[in-house]
Amino acid sequence: MKAPNRLRLDGAALVENWRALARMSGRAACGAAVKANGYGLGAEKVVRRLARAGCQHFFVATWAEARALAGTGVALAVLHGAREADMAWAAEGCAKPVLSTPLQVQRWRAAGLGTCDVMVETGMNRLGIAPADILAGLLDGLQIDTLMSHLACAEEKVPHNEHQRASLAALAGRTGARRLSLANSAGIALGRDYAFDLTRPGLALYGGVPCAALAPFIRPVVTVEAEVLQRRLVRAGDGVGYNLTWSAPRDSEVAILNLGYADGYRRAFSNTGTALLNGKPLPVIGRISMDLTAVDTTGFDVGEGDWLSFDPDLAWAAEATGVSQYELLTGLGQRFDRVWC
Ligand SMILES: *Cc1c(COP(=O)(O)O)cnc(C)c1O
Repeated sequence: MKAPNRLRLDGAALVENWRALARMSGRAACGAAVKANGYGLGAEKVVRRLARAGCQHFFVATWAEARALAGTGVALAVLHGAREADMAWAAEGCAKPVLSTPLQVQRWRAAGLGTCDVMVETGMNRLGIAPADILAGLLDGLQIDTLMSHLACAEEKVPHNEHQRASLAALAGRTGARRLSLANSAGIALGRDYAFDLTRPGLALYGGVPCAALAPFIRPVVTVEAEVLQRRLVRAGDGVGYNLTWSAPRDSEVAILNLGYADGYRRAFSNTGTALLNGKPLPVIGRISMDLTAVDTTGFDVGEGDWLSFDPDLAWAAEATGVSQYELLTGLGQRFDRVWC
């Protein structure tokens, strides 16, 4: 059965974005963050495409996410480490943890499960082990693949980035780690010094543009499309949708689409979003409902059963709504058909 709305997912653009980020990463390997179901696109399909293109390092948040990807056979790292409750799944060996507390280090060492990654705290005060603990020998004897940290302000030009970079660089050669890693999408644009041995883009793979420097290299990947359930004529002065926040300035053709905030088409698009008909912009009018959205189609031949798409420019959408590009992607709901082309 065909759903009345879908995500058109551009597999070639996904791979091209990864290749562009890999080029910008220089000699460093380029991985992929595929947590939150591949930022809403569907992690398995994303992983298979990127693995075929040559990507060898994938990052998820939880063991449930890792386990769901076990069939792909790729190397997965679980960013949220190894809680006691995770150890049974960790023992299955579908992924390695990114350890981020002394207790996790102790637990992993005791379990004797082999290779791990480690997160270092260098100035974000989120997850990670203090550099002082590492210099004091906390990690001695662990088989560490990647020693990584995460940038707090990568999309801003601030001295804090250099501070974090230097803190990680100071740990080079101080552990048995095979690699160092720091840069997310925006971090890659900060320059080769930030790439170390492995970069970890997420957002930009999926068409998000976190900073102007990446804009020329990143293509949109996700296009929302929805079917017209009803077309109506709204008389001049009559209102549309909850609380009638839009009223017709003239007799207007209006299309009601199968798309709403329960699909992740956020309420912030009310009277703000843009639908597209063969590239021509049509304004979203009135409040976004849970399952419905209205579009002013005056002057266009749009009828019941037709499909409209929505502007795929995430940076624009975030600017227009105040909702971050990350939230716009990861909020994409489960009712869409996800169609790769
Ligand atoms: C999510 C995440 C990334 C990817 O970040 P983007 O900003 O989406 O490129 C990289 N590293 C870590 C630790 C993350 O949590």
